Amino acid sequence: MNTLNPKCILTNRDLSYSNSGHILPCCWVNTQFNDKYIKHLFKDNLHIDNNDTIEDIVNSKEWKEFMNVLKNNSDEDLPKQCKIFCSVKLEDNFEETKEKF
Ligand code: SF4
Repeated sequence: MNTLNPKCILTNRDLSYSNSGHILPCCWVNTQFNDKYIKHLFKDNLHIDNNDTIEDIVNSKEWKEFMNVLKNNSDEDLPKQCKIFCSVKLEDNFEETKEKF
């Protein structure tokens, strides 16, 4: 069963730009280049230097496959970061509920 509420799909959450030169669906997955699914978004063909527009990247096969994972994989088989940040109600923003310092 998939109970994820992916904010990258269901809200206007901003894209993220990684210091590796890649666009990502959000900043929460920005450092997850070893994750089984997210690592595909860090492939060389998706580097900004190898694309003319952001649309070329977000419409790529890799991005479509990743969004398919978010929508259709079971809860047990989702990226860890996505489960942490998006297995909550859409209106809940994990970052805003954390204590600062
Ligand atoms: S944590 Fe995952 S599901 Fe949530 S917005 Fe980011 S990429 Fe999408």
